[in-house]
Amino acid sequence: MININLASLKKGDSHHEYEWVMPDIDNNTKENINIISVFDIHNKNDTDYEFNGYITFNLIRICDRCNESYSSSFKEDVRFLIKKNSDIEDIDIIHTNSNIVSLTSYIRDIIITAIPMKSLCSDDCKGQCPLCGINLNREKCACINKED
Ligand SMILES: [Zn+2]
Ligand SMILES: [Zn+2]
Repeated sequence: MININLASLKKGDSHHEYEWVMPDIDNNTKENINIISVFDIHNKNDTDYEFNGYITFNLIRICDRCNESYSSSFKEDVRFLIKKNSDIEDIDIIHTNSNIVSLTSYIRDIIITAIPMKSLCSDDCKGQCPLCGINLNREKCACINKED
């Protein structure tokens, strides 16, 4: 779970780096996702907390074409505002009445949005031979030659 403790943020500007672990978010990978986040935080009067920064993480994906797993790295800009005891609605405002704020669903949405619909180990992945199943990125098979 990803939590921020507002009581740990001093007034004014500060710089924070967090390491978070997100439980698996889809069925393409069974692993937890390790996230490094870097934020400049502006704490206005202990009621408004502006977060401005980015998160980075790696995902192990299975290529849609060749079925091999590969690692894909992401860096996503993240900005949001944590507001205490307020009812202004906005997509990037996170409301709270306490000092412990859960960012789990907010960050999960960012990760899900960042993942491309198609998983490809590389843009020019040659895929698998439909006949013998060999990975054509690594070797050639006889099946192709027979079709010539
Ligand atoms: Zn591939
Ligand atoms: Zn083949």
